[in-house]
Amino acid sequence: MKVAIFSTKPYDREFLESANQSFGHELVFFEPRLTSQTASLANGFPAVCVFVNDELDARVLLHLHRSGTQLIALRCAGYNNVDLQVAEQLGFVVTRVPAYSPQAVAEHTLALILALARRLHKSYNRVREGNFALDGLLGMDLSGKTAGIIGTGKIGRLVAKRLMAFECHVVAFDTQPDEELASFDVEYVGYEELFRRSDIITLHCPLVPATHHLINEDTLALMKRGVMLINTSRGALVDSQAVIRALKSGKIGALGLDVYEEEADLFFEDLSNQVIQDDVFMRMLTFPNVIITGHQAFFTQNAMEAIARKTLENVTAFERQEEPPGLLRYREALAS
Ligand code: NAD
Repeated sequence: MKVAIFSTKPYDREFLESANQSFGHELVFFEPRLTSQTASLANGFPAVCVFVNDELDARVLLHLHRSGTQLIALRCAGYNNVDLQVAEQLGFVVTRVPAYSPQAVAEHTLALILALARRLHKSYNRVREGNFALDGLLGMDLSGKTAGIIGTGKIGRLVAKRLMAFECHVVAFDTQPDEELASFDVEYVGYEELFRRSDIITLHCPLVPATHHLINEDTLALMKRGVMLINTSRGALVDSQAVIRALKSGKIGALGLDVYEEEADLFFEDLSNQVIQDDVFMRMLTFPNVIITGHQAFFTQNAMEAIARKTLENVTAFERQEEPPGLLRYREALAS
């Protein structure tokens, strides 16, 4: 099947071409993101393959529909960038890769927590400059701390288990609690209690209307002074302006982000020779207790191989008129 691949980076091409040796699809790679300006590149392609910052809003979906596209194959787990109501009305089949390596994201989450707890981002630079002073590097033991996990699905549950290995007490909130985790001493509590009790809060729920700006002025007010906040899920779970105010006041003691609500204009590109215009993002970078990575939590060898293989499995199943293993079920997705 002829597939238009958007937001292609050299590594996407490498992994997809390698996996495609077992599938034999006709893959056509486009560097731009899919937006209303670039949608015409997909004209005549029955399938498009997109990533986290491609825009599948009503305008783009209508264009794709009119130009003959039937399958939207997301090469990621989240689908918040797709207008599902419109996609359903237009009869698109939408597939995704619900699980490729939850371990990759869970491990990156732990990397952010540990780096912030031990100020590794500061000491890395200091030692390179011959500065071996310890002032400002005072760390925090994870042992004995309370970690709050919002969303205990595939990624959140692995983060919970890893934090328990560091002797944290884990409290969690999920609209659908996991019985197995509860039997492992994870204590399910309400949102408010989680915010009040946690020394570390890490977000692993999807971005849906109910979770948009879940971290805001009001929820930050409930948290402990000096709380560590981690977001490797989706940027818009966090109100960035409120977070900046909380960093300035000391309410947030450490912030680790792999995602940012306006990341589509920044992430995955080398902007090192440009003046970055996003003042909110740049303000966050000025704090000594903030680490930001550019949506790299998923980016491991294992995960990239699995994403490529599972994306192409979805395309093959669609071509054969079988149910794709990663079929997005509208009713469930719209209800969440
Ligand atoms: P998942 O669907 O397995 O788990 C999500 C969990 O959140 C579920 O248990 C669900 O019940 C729960 N949930 C839903 N609504 C909630 C709410 N209002 N409050 C609390 N919990 C709620 O998803 P996953 O595979 O664990 O992925 C979690 C998120 O991680 C994804 O939505 C995606 O946005 C993000 N992600 C990021 C990266 C990255 O590279 N940074 C990679 C993969 C996934």
